[in-house]
Amino acid sequence: MKTVVKFGGSSLASARQFKKVGDIIRSDKSRRYVIPSAPGKRNDKDEKVTDMLYQCYDAASQGRSYKKILEKIIARYQEIIDGLDLNLNMDHEFQRIEEDFLAKKGRDYAASRGEYLNGMVMANYLGYEFIDAAEVIFFDENGSFLAEATNTELAERLATADKAVIPGFYGSAPDGSIRTFSRGGSDVTGSIVARAIHADLYENWTDVSGFLVADPRIVPDPQVIETITYKELRELSYMGASVLHEDAIFPVREEGIPIHIRNTNKPEDKGTLIVENTCRKPRYTVTGIAGKKGFCSVFIEKAMMNGEVGFGRKVLEVFEKQGISFEHMPSGIDTMTVFVHQTEFIQHEQSVISGIHRAVQPDLIDLESDMALIAVVGRGMKGNRGTAARIFAALSHARINIKMIDQGSSETNIIVGVKNDDFERAIKAVYDIFITAEL
Ligand code: ASP
Repeated sequence: MKTVVKFGGSSLASARQFKKVGDIIRSDKSRRYVIPSAPGKRNDKDEKVTDMLYQCYDAASQGRSYKKILEKIIARYQEIIDGLDLNLNMDHEFQRIEEDFLAKKGRDYAASRGEYLNGMVMANYLGYEFIDAAEVIFFDENGSFLAEATNTELAERLATADKAVIPGFYGSAPDGSIRTFSRGGSDVTGSIVARAIHADLYENWTDVSGFLVADPRIVPDPQVIETITYKELRELSYMGASVLHEDAIFPVREEGIPIHIRNTNKPEDKGTLIVENTCRKPRYTVTGIAGKKGFCSVFIEKAMMNGEVGFGRKVLEVFEKQGISFEHMPSGIDTMTVFVHQTEFIQHEQSVISGIHRAVQPDLIDLESDMALIAVVGRGMKGNRGTAARIFAALSHARINIKMIDQGSSETNIIVGVKNDDFERAIKAVYDIFITAEL
């Protein structure tokens, strides 16, 4: 059995955290490929090493003083090395990094050093081989990830490495320069490695015990989701729930490899298993509830619209020309409504209105701002009658007006639109009717 284990920044923020990670890895022989993030925050007031590296690089490359922050970064690693009693001297690494910063090797290069150095510490601590991600993870000259070239190289390289540490977050471009994924990208590296070695499992260790049914800032102490499908996860993350980098799903999904979210500080907790498909019955009808504020609706009415072939396309083309993507588009007999992100829309508002007039000569265009969208997601909803009724009843009891409803025929996602001001209360009401009431 082969397991890829990725540890997030807070799991590797100090020597104490490293020891927990060491225990976790040593407790299961299948944990052979390790992907570390850079050291994260040790407490709320602390700084992530990645952020410090960006600051240090900006100062050094702009001729400002950078020594103080560099000393702080060095001290973070030294604390870990000393706390683990390692015989590891990284002076020459730091010298090289300083030279490279002064030579303006790039912000991506700077940020990547957090993972690079942590990978070296981790490999030394575990006695695993260190493989520099720059040698096995590839980007093109524009910084787009090259999935297939990477997969071939990684598979070949890891075939000869029984146990290895591969730092997360970065790789290299054809000219040898370092490129990174977007923030939180070590999750993506873990997924890429899992795909390349045909791992049985990709464990993603973090500081929470899995995905929560709802945002804990809105619902106090929400339940943890035990099993979730990639599809449900995609829908919930799209609507704002975040634990895992979005792009981390695609590589493992192609191979049907499950991702297991675990808590480094509570390894006894079950965590959340993310799978392609499962017969495991979900505990509740609804797997998760997530949402976002800040939408605007553009309502368009025209008598006999339904008979006008191409009406929808012409309207959407107006948005497309302004570079605005739409979120949802419920329609009626002679009406259609396009939901867009308010901040994106506002700058182009007047051009869109005049564009629609020109394109389809509507009878009426009406705008409504400050709307929130809430997604109620769950494979358990399929073929189960009464789910929508329960959502609407819950919202009506909470005296919340529903502005929009959208359910695709996959029956695994119902989206409701409410006013921004009702957002939190709406999520609580839906949580209570599906989870609290079923506990
Ligand atoms: N260290 C990087 C960040 O802070 C990448 C990661 O942690 O996944 O975004």
